Parts: sequence; structure tokens; C-alpha cells
Amino acid sequence: MSHTAEIIAVGTELLLGNIANTNAQDISQALSGLGINVYYHTVVGDNPQRLRDCLETARKRADIIITTGGLGPTYDDLTKQTICAVFGRPLELHPDVVEEIRAFYESALHVPMPENNARQGELPVGCVMFDNPVGTAPGCAFEEGGVHILMLPGPPNEMRTMLRRCAVPYLRGLSRETIVSHDIMVFGMGESSVDALLREEMCRMKNPTLATYAKPGEVRLRATAKAESPERAEEMLSPVLARVQALLGDVVYGIDVADLAQVCLGLLKERGMTFATAESCTGGRVAERITALPGASAVYRGGVVSYWSEVKADVLGVPREILERCGAVSEECARAMAEGARRVTGADIGVSVTGVAGPDTDERGTPVGRVYIGLATPTGTFCRRTDHGSRRRDRIQNVSANHAFDVIRRYLTGLPIE
Ligand code: ATP
Ligand code: MG
Repeated sequence: MSHTAEIIAVGTELLLGNIANTNAQDISQALSGLGINVYYHTVVGDNPQRLRDCLETARKRADIIITTGGLGPTYDDLTKQTICAVFGRPLELHPDVVEEIRAFYESALHVPMPENNARQGELPVGCVMFDNPVGTAPGCAFEEGGVHILMLPGPPNEMRTMLRRCAVPYLRGLSRETIVSHDIMVFGMGESSVDALLREEMCRMKNPTLATYAKPGEVRLRATAKAESPERAEEMLSPVLARVQALLGDVVYGIDVADLAQVCLGLLKERGMTFATAESCTGGRVAERITALPGASAVYRGGVVSYWSEVKADVLGVPREILERCGAVSEECARAMAEGARRVTGADIGVSVTGVAGPDTDERGTPVGRVYIGLATPTGTFCRRTDHGSRRRDRIQNVSANHAFDVIRRYLTGLPIE
């Protein structure tokens, strides 16, 4: 049976907007990793009546309730008392817990324990106690009428420690399901086209599921399976991955990879090859993306940001005749830039980007968003023309950098480039 959880964050500060509800985010992430569905996040102030209402609602629609906050020693910390009242569990004092809290005060905080802290040693009868090694208030969990209630402290570092060390193992004991997901990375097909191809598939699927997430200029598809074991989940996922790849074809550039630059780094390393860049309208974005990755020096020799025509001619050796006849934003120039980058650096591959990032057209009236990607290789020179329309300047630059990596990937895997 699959579980349904609700997270109740207690704290007036949250409602006032003084702090963000990061605890709910952290707990949700952990639950998703356990295959537990989260249907509601609730936030309620430090008010026992409203907390009571939230608990009554939650117990009707969830079989796991996780609260954070309000476990401390002060008068407004009422979570434990309210939960015990709603679920009919008396509290009992644990003198050993009080002694631990007293010891924490003396050794870690170097002050005597204020007497109202003894309240933190009260726990629901028959609960599982969650230790708090980084603070004072212990958490706990119990089951009542088929509903599991877990109480975690509010301070995020205490909450996260207890979540990882106590709550996740407790929940794992309830749930026999695990979740496994894989990301299918797509470049060269828009989100709507991906959606059109897969819509039927996505609507029909219950487990595994398939969802699209658009990133600027690319699409991430996430396939997720729930099963009793990771091995079984992988078995369920592999036909889905195969089917998506068959439907989308070579626009799928990888599975569970960070981005195109990462893929190129891997391919170039495997083949023992190097590349160099000649960038105009991307201003070094391709160089920046590759050098952001550890290990880039094995494959990237360097690059030229050749913004002015003089630099294209003098540094990269683009013939002046090309610049005069065709202009800097032209297929001829892109090819010559890529060849120049290759020649100047001695790299196996030269890649170039020249285009109009906007917002204005160039002096020849080339439309905004027209970008040429050149690729010079040991087996010939190629060029891809792309048109991005009047998108934002930085968007055109980022997508163009992706195109530069995509032509390298395609060349190295024997796919058509232009
Ligand atoms: P304490 O023993 O510190 O009183 P507590 O369990 O009673 O802990 P609260 O008093 O509700 O928790 O909150 C303590 C602090 O933890 C808050 O001031 C806030 O900074 C942080 N906090 C509480 N709830 C959240 C939340 N949901 N997300 C992020 N931070 C939170
Ligand atoms: Mg408190």
C-alpha cells in the first residue's frame, strides 16, 4: 500500500513571512525519495485551536503526518501537547531525557538548564523517541488509528539531522516501496514538440510516470518508477527509456547527465581529442561552460573571443575578403573562424559561434537571432545556421553555446551536424 503524507509546519514566523518554510521542502524531498506521496503542506501559527483543526483535517486525508516546530520549552511551543490531546495520548515524563537535556546545557551551552526545559522530557506514552544530538528538544513518533504522527523540531539544522537519522529510518520501516528516476536530456526539439510526441504515452502511464521539465533551450524528461526494490524499478524503467529514445531519436543527448558540455567532455576524453573555440556573439560562454567542469584541461586547449572583425582577421586568420563580401555573421565566416581556432591552437576540433544576439540587427540587416555555428574537424568543416528570432540577448547566447556543444557531440557520435 502506498502512503500519503501531510507536512504541518508550526510557527507564526512562517505566516508572517519572516522565514521561508525550508523544513517542508527538506521533508518533502526525503519523502519523495522514499516513495511516499505528499499531498499537502500546511502552515499554521503557534495557536493550539488552529493546530488542532489542522490535525483533524490531516488525519482524514493522510496516513503520515509530520510536524516541524513548536517542540521547544517556551509557552508558545505547543505542538506536542496539542497532538497528544487530539490523538488521545497522555504525556509522560522521562527523567533520563531531562537529565540528557541538563547535561547538554552544561557541557555544550555552559549554563544551567532553565527549569521549564524539563517539559521537553515529556513524551507521548508508547512513542518512539528521536534523539536530538544538535539541540535539546527530542522528537518522536507514534501510531494511532492507522495514522503515523512524527514530530520534528523547528530549527533547520536540528530538523535535518533528526530527519536523516531517525525519521527516514522510521518511515522506511513503514514503506516497502522505493522510487527510482532517470532524466532523459533533450536538445534540438522544443518542449511542445516533445510533448506532442509523448502526450498519449504520458497520460496513459501510471507507474512508471513520465514528466517534462523545460530548461532554457532544452527539455528534461523525468521517468520515475515505484517498486518494492530498486532492481524492480530499474526493470520497469528500461523499456520506458528505450521507447522515449526511439520516439525522440538523436535529439536525446544523454540520460542522467548534467548538460551538453558534460557530454562533450566525456566524448572527447574517450577519444583522446581536444577542441578550441572562436566565439563572437557568445562572448566566451562556450569556453566558460567547458572550463566550469573539472577535468576540462584534458580536452579544451583554449579560445578566442573575436568580437571585432579585425580580431577575426588578425588572430584567427579569417580572410578579409570573406568579411567584406559575406560579413562577420555568415556561414563563410563561421567556417573560417572554426578553422582558425583549430589552426592557431593545434586542437583536433575548432568550434565557432558568430551571430546577432540583438536587440539590434547588424549593419547588413541580418535578423536578430541568426547565429552560425562552425565546426572544423580532421574530416572537414561544417556549419549550422540557427534562427532564434527576437529572443532575449542572454537567451540567444546561452542557446547558441548549447548548439556549439551539440555540433561537437554530433560529430563525435557520427550524427548529421547541419
Ligand atoms: P526551539 O527549541 O528552538 O524553540 P522549536 O522546535 O520549538 O525549537 P520553533 O520555536 O517553532 O521550533 O522554531 C525555532 C526556529 O526554527 C524558528 O525561529 C525558525 O528560525 C526555525 N524554523 C521553524 N520552523 C521552520 C520551518 N518550517 N522552516 C524553516 N525554519 C523553521
Ligand atoms: Mg520554539
